Amino acid sequence: MKKEDLTFKEKSKEKILKTIKHVLNYIRHNKNKTKVIAGVVAIVICVGVVSIVKLNSKEVLACAKSRNIMLEGETITDIALSGSREIEKGPSKSYGKVVYLTIDDGPSEYTDEIIKILNKNNVKATFFMINSNMQAYPEQVKNIVKNENTAGFHSVSHDIHKLYTSPTAAKNEFDTNQKTFKEITGETSKVIRLPFGSKPYTPRSSYNALMDAGYKLWDWTLDTEDWRSTSPQIIQSVIKHTSDTDDAVLLMHERKQTVAVLDEMIQHFKKEGFEILPIKQSDEQRNYWNGKLFKTEK
Ligand SMILES: [Zn+2]
Repeated sequence: MKKEDLTFKEKSKEKILKTIKHVLNYIRHNKNKTKVIAGVVAIVICVGVVSIVKLNSKEVLACAKSRNIMLEGETITDIALSGSREIEKGPSKSYGKVVYLTIDDGPSEYTDEIIKILNKNNVKATFFMINSNMQAYPEQVKNIVKNENTAGFHSVSHDIHKLYTSPTAAKNEFDTNQKTFKEITGETSKVIRLPFGSKPYTPRSSYNALMDAGYKLWDWTLDTEDWRSTSPQIIQSVIKHTSDTDDAVLLMHERKQTVAVLDEMIQHFKKEGFEILPIKQSDEQRNYWNGKLFKTEK
């Protein structure tokens, strides 16, 4: 508390004591005691009500504090949402609007159609692929590479209960991805995405093992939640959440409803002046751990 606050408090105390003395004197010398006493009672009730209201506002503050503590367990999507809100408050920039289309959980029966839509619009995307799906759809893996999209890895198990059983378990899964990808295409990639993001499930030891192996870990800044949405919901959500941002890493999945709005989504981004880019192997990774999830972070 500041010094000025203390003196102010003391002064107020003195004033209150003086007033009480005056009132008591007045009661003593006044004939119409009942009326005066009623007045005093009314004042006491008022003071009581004011104190209760003040207490309540303190409780609200305490609630807000405990909510901050709860935020420790938030997901990448929570972080991304609150982060993009922070950015929305900042001054708007008129240069370099960029969006990364990232498509998880493939390849699948939809991959070729997705590539067709990307090609039609002359844009590239990043595909984060699961090991068993690479094995099931090797031609689609080749198609991704042939059309100059970025191939990224998305684990073997896609299971947080298996990825973190030891500090190197996740790294080993991505090594397996690497081996499968090399067998199919003869190429390598260092771009990866952890299932469900790198927060809150990933321990630091697992993150460190991935970094030591030279992997580049990408989280996202906007989750389309396409896996549980209809096509109109997906496009509406994307339009809404990118209206005040100039930089987005968009999380999508290889789902029918996503493919159905992909063309419209790309048209929207172009119209709004976004450059649509694939993640490059040489790009600096952007994740929760390195504090580069949002471009404005230093
Ligand atoms: Zn996934």
